Amino acid sequence: MNPVPAYASSEDIVNYINGTKTTPSQAEKQPVYNPATGAVTRHVVLSGEQEINDAVAAAKAAATNWANTPPIRRARIINKFLGLMQEHTDTLAAIITAEHGKVFTDAQGEVARGIDIIEFACGIPQLLKGDYTDQVSTDIDNWTMRQPLGVVAGITPFNFPVMVPCWMFPIAIAAGNTFILKPSERDPSASLFMADLLKQAGLPDGVFNIVQGGKPAVDALLEHPDVSAISFVGSTPIAHYISERAAHFGKRVQALGGAKNHLVVMPDADLERAVDALVGAGYGSAGERCMAISVALLVGDVGDKLIPMLAERTRNLKIMNGMNLEAEMGPIVTRQSLDKIESYIESGVQEGASLVVDGRGYTVPEHESGFFTGGTLFDHVTPAMRIYKEEIFGPVLSCVRVADLGEAIELINNHEFGNGVSCFTSDGHTAREFARRILVGMVGINVPIPVPMAWHGFGGWKKSLFGDMHAYGEEGVRFYTRQKSIMQRWPESMSKGAEFAMPTAK
Ligand code: NAD
Repeated sequence: MNPVPAYASSEDIVNYINGTKTTPSQAEKQPVYNPATGAVTRHVVLSGEQEINDAVAAAKAAATNWANTPPIRRARIINKFLGLMQEHTDTLAAIITAEHGKVFTDAQGEVARGIDIIEFACGIPQLLKGDYTDQVSTDIDNWTMRQPLGVVAGITPFNFPVMVPCWMFPIAIAAGNTFILKPSERDPSASLFMADLLKQAGLPDGVFNIVQGGKPAVDALLEHPDVSAISFVGSTPIAHYISERAAHFGKRVQALGGAKNHLVVMPDADLERAVDALVGAGYGSAGERCMAISVALLVGDVGDKLIPMLAERTRNLKIMNGMNLEAEMGPIVTRQSLDKIESYIESGVQEGASLVVDGRGYTVPEHESGFFTGGTLFDHVTPAMRIYKEEIFGPVLSCVRVADLGEAIELINNHEFGNGVSCFTSDGHTAREFARRILVGMVGINVPIPVPMAWHGFGGWKKSLFGDMHAYGEEGVRFYTRQKSIMQRWPESMSKGAEFAMPTAK
């Protein structure tokens, strides 16, 4: 029996501006699907410049009062929101499963990882504390404070409709900014549910706003002069575009992009645990995670032992509607993404990789119109193949045979992406060398998906991140604030007469 009923609503998914749900007068709409059934369940409105102008105006009007609200009082509202998110975790997870397709327990995990960031944001009074130096020069003191930027915006991908927005808005709001969220148009319902919870928590109107839509809404946010900073998470070509456009318009920007994450299996690794890790990290969430493992680098003779074990597990994956608690893997988010994944599998075959398990054409009884594919396993993949070079974003695991650790590190370091990486070994020196030499932002040693906790910050290297600050953690606080330095003395200690030389400590 399922713990909560499957989520069902047929209402249009609209904007949320100044504390009110609003529908644009001329709005076009786009269907939102339940990927497990293939049915259109709702429609999302697609906004343009006018709706962005309205949202920015609301956020701007709320900005001064909110920035002047003491951090401890802002934190108390975030703390109430935290409680409501915990109370409604299962409903949010059911909303995620209904529109993304991932299995319910995975969706619960997503909400839990979002809640971690909200919990972190409750510590904002401590995080905003500045530095103070008494007597930088005789009778002069100097201190720093961090102040909010004003109106900031976040643009988020389909694969974490709760967690990735939570990487952004709890910290941005706690730091005293007002926020505009532009969720993915493929699974936007969770955003409105969170807006309701923020209102119940006592957040003043205008502090958190949502504008639904695609490229026109994003472009209007990028161009709007009153938006100070943009956080983006999504595919690399769009991340690159966002970072260039935002910089062009003088905005602060962090744009997290795509990935191709490797897991190295050393001959001294515990192979059963390595197989568990590869199956979970390769096929969990149907491979639609930016930290999914999509390449296994099998060192020495590991491949001969590991491929048969992996093949059996891949063939026996329990693939079904994500609301079924038996499910290990659900459907792909849309028919279009499914077709793209299956065309990559065809390209792997054409380029000469060994197709050990072919997931194409998988059907689930009573869900024949759902967007399902099975797990796919390739062996003898080479670095020249498209399935090695490009992000597939589906349940396709490519195995590459390498001679030694040095060859594995060289391959990873030459790849254009650098989001996550993992090494399975029982040797401390190998682990240490790997962690130090690898050119990747997030490293796991015997941990397949090393997503940093809320207070450590998340971010890749190379084409997986444009901008220099990582998401959430203390870097997140820095991203959403700017430092001011104040130097002060009082007339009693000031000598008379103008000074023309550069001031120095006296
Ligand atoms: P996407 O790039 O298609 O969309 C992301 C956002 O950009 C959405 O809100 C979308 O509406 C908007 N968008 C789409 N096309 C646009 C355009 N031409 N101009 C302006 N905005 C546009 O990504 P997706 O398919 O929703 O998400 C999957 C991708 O996100 C994968 O590449 C994955 O690796 C990446 N991702 C990265 C991270 C990370 O932390 N690095 C985390 C999650 C997902």
